[in-house]
Amino acid sequence: MPHFQRISLVHYHELGLKGHNRSTFERHLMRNLSSLLEDAPVEKVTRISGRVLVMYQASADASEIAEAADLIARVPGVARVSCGFVCDRELDQMYAAADAALSEAGAFDTWKVVARRNHTDFEIDSMEMNQLVGAYLCERYPDKKVKMKHPDVEVHVEVVQGHSYIYAQSIPGVGGLPVGTAGKVVCLMSSGIDSPVAAWRMARRGATCIGVHFSGRPQTASTSEYLVDDIAHVLERFGGIARVYVVPFGDYQRDIAGMVPPALRIIIYRRLMMRIAERIARREGAKALVTGESLGQVASQTLDNLAATNAAVEMQIFRPLIGSDKLEIIADAQKLGTFEISSNPAPDCCTLFMPRSPETHAKIADVEAAEEALPWQEWIEEIMENLELHEYRCPSSYRVRDAARAAEQAQSSSRVADADAAVSQGTVLFG
Ligand code: ATP
Ligand code: MG
Repeated sequence: MPHFQRISLVHYHELGLKGHNRSTFERHLMRNLSSLLEDAPVEKVTRISGRVLVMYQASADASEIAEAADLIARVPGVARVSCGFVCDRELDQMYAAADAALSEAGAFDTWKVVARRNHTDFEIDSMEMNQLVGAYLCERYPDKKVKMKHPDVEVHVEVVQGHSYIYAQSIPGVGGLPVGTAGKVVCLMSSGIDSPVAAWRMARRGATCIGVHFSGRPQTASTSEYLVDDIAHVLERFGGIARVYVVPFGDYQRDIAGMVPPALRIIIYRRLMMRIAERIARREGAKALVTGESLGQVASQTLDNLAATNAAVEMQIFRPLIGSDKLEIIADAQKLGTFEISSNPAPDCCTLFMPRSPETHAKIADVEAAEEALPWQEWIEEIMENLELHEYRCPSSYRVRDAARAAEQAQSSSRVADADAAVSQGTVLFG
């Protein structure tokens, strides 16, 4: 059997992508993919006919390609990833590539060919291609059945410009929008189960996430910081997180615990966290705060207490999990790959000085009165001076000062450059 170059075609939903939106979407998606696939055996990331085309190196083996496809499927903006081959638009080659694709499709009983050409300069139309490739495969797989509706496997044959792209394997992607198309948000990240899922939901809508973690240090060990770092590394794989600020918060909590009525402690910790997160957001140019709160899950997540927390800041606060059940959140955390990390016990700074019966219906006036005993404005200045910053690889947050480095990388690998050149050419052939 001839040896064809292996490829993945990355499909995205084009719904609502018109004019300028579409080119922004494509530019971000290609840049994110090029960068996230840096360690994969990829020769080139480019674009054909409203898809992203990933071409693998000849040396890449099947398991490396399966791993790359699995990564691509988890990158926000990707609706589907198909894996197969590219060959010339010669029938003999197309037959052999279709045969190779079908032979790798796993167990199946029924199949069909789905052919398509993007230009009439290829003399065989899609109906004829269906028949020709279909007839060839019928001979090769005499005991398998052709089925038009819902077959086990579809062998796709796409003739685009001078090449044919042929695949029979396809996996669904996470959908959403490419990270970087929606601006920045600051995510309050504990090492718990919920907040990583909340951040992920925002990343999947195109937001670049900046984490803020309040550690119980020096009153507790730094366990939660290591867990948050592990969580950030999971989000980093899909380009979802750019940096995490760690705030050593234990001493402030101890002071709050000594100075305000026990029932209001948690709400007052929360308000201080929000104010600090808002300051960080302003510094970062982020336009919203994000938490993993879910209505009624714990005492601090009643409507009254959420309102008391909101009242501490002006910036909008998003709570993507507000209507989710814990079991749904756990299922999402498992899919994301953060559940096991979050299941490790860590002395959270909120549990450190936990009152026995926290207020569930805090009145804003009472909270504000209690806060008068605290020099919280001074604390915020002090905390802002002592932030600890952890950086993660996030293609959407390359800044101007990183542009030179990015250009250098692009030149050395030529992949980002190819990707950008392909986008700026703006060739959209289908759709
Ligand atoms: P999670 O599993 O995300 O910790 P939770 O159900 O344990 O959520 P809380 O501990 O009440 O609920 O926290 C609610 C939200 O407040 C978290 O989802 C997170 O956004 C924020 N938060 C809580 N503790 C911290 C912390 N130590 N650092 C940063 N953010 C925090
Ligand atoms: Mg928690």
